[in-house]
Amino acid sequence: STVFEKSKVLTPDYIPKNLPHREKQIKELSINFREILSNPGSTSVRVVISGKTGTGKTVTTKKFGELFSEIAKEKGLRVVYTHINCHRQRTLYLMLVEIANQLNLQIPNRGLSSQETFKLIYDYLEKRNIQLIITLDEFDYFVSTSPVEDIYFLVRIYDELNALVKRIHYIFILRELTSLASLDKSIKDHVIKNVIEFPPYTSEELYDILMDRIVNEKAFREGAVLEETVRFISDIYGIDKGGSGNARLALETLELAGKIADTEGSLLVTIDHAKKANSKINPELSIILDTIRDLDLHQLLVVKAIMNLHKKEGDDFFSMGKVEEEYNIVAKDLGEIPRKHTQVFEYIRKLKLMGLITARQSGKGMRGRTTLISLSVPISEELDNLINNEIRDRLL
Ligand code: ADP
Repeated sequence: STVFEKSKVLTPDYIPKNLPHREKQIKELSINFREILSNPGSTSVRVVISGKTGTGKTVTTKKFGELFSEIAKEKGLRVVYTHINCHRQRTLYLMLVEIANQLNLQIPNRGLSSQETFKLIYDYLEKRNIQLIITLDEFDYFVSTSPVEDIYFLVRIYDELNALVKRIHYIFILRELTSLASLDKSIKDHVIKNVIEFPPYTSEELYDILMDRIVNEKAFREGAVLEETVRFISDIYGIDKGGSGNARLALETLELAGKIADTEGSLLVTIDHAKKANSKINPELSIILDTIRDLDLHQLLVVKAIMNLHKKEGDDFFSMGKVEEEYNIVAKDLGEIPRKHTQVFEYIRKLKLMGLITARQSGKGMRGRTTLISLSVPISEELDNLINNEIRDRLL
């Protein structure tokens, strides 16, 4: 027997009927694109979507694409929505080929340039009177890996074509707006017009998202998932509870909890199953969770100092002196008087005993041997949020 009914509705690519808590974003998208319906050909729409991983950027734009093409059809207009993952289609040329694929347009196999390929696509749109929405998912990646000319070509296609009727519209999906910082102002002006934010989900919002999959989409047999289990998972990932606000991780945890219930022969998915699932998905974190809750403010600040150094320098191991220096900055930033050297030393010794810090001696190359320290757990967003929340609590 199994707790699942339609387990496929829990897979990452599934697009559910409802997207709780993204109604506002869908509405904003519709408003941005309404010109296409009222006055097709008059403008080229460009929208930027920004938000962290798991905040529903992909699923929401795809849903919008579905809804919008439907509405257009009812009005007798042809709008085609294409979704490109810049991580998978790594070059401008591959992206154009993928767009052609999604349009069911055959591209000859004789090494056309990107420009020529684009021309084929454009002619196809003209002939069939199609308005095309191109969503460029993980656009950060394209920006950081592609030649400037390619980025320029992609976002300024119209100037090249001198097209009178505008047929191509963009949704750029970004994790962070700052990833556009390196671009030329003229390109930026082309990309950043309207920005729609996707904030991380709160515990309540995740609860609604999970419940929708359970109750409306029938992922599980009726009554198989206990309400408290859903609450538990939502609380782990809710941004307001120190989580990352990532719906993907919450859904994965729910699915895995169901699988664990199945292997244990249980007809119910309990909190205990969710805990086991969580420690698989998030192993290091769940082990040190309790340790971190027991730390006092300045011990937390030392941990934070190491995380800051890691972010700044990309290294894992740092000298005690460096950590202390960063700790002093962190403490002062928060209006705390930094503890004295001997006390900081003592904190580090304790953190080591707790297993939170690993130490090693520097190699021969360095003058004199110094102790280098590192966090013994991977530095993740979850950990970062957790530490920041604990610090905030101690400061209240
Ligand atoms: P992102 O693109 O921001 O990383 P995704 O759109 O891939 O996030 O969402 C991650 C997972 O969470 C997907 O399985 C998606 O279906 C689900 N999800 C995200 N937001 C919602 C929502 N508001 N309602 C229902 N499911 C959601």
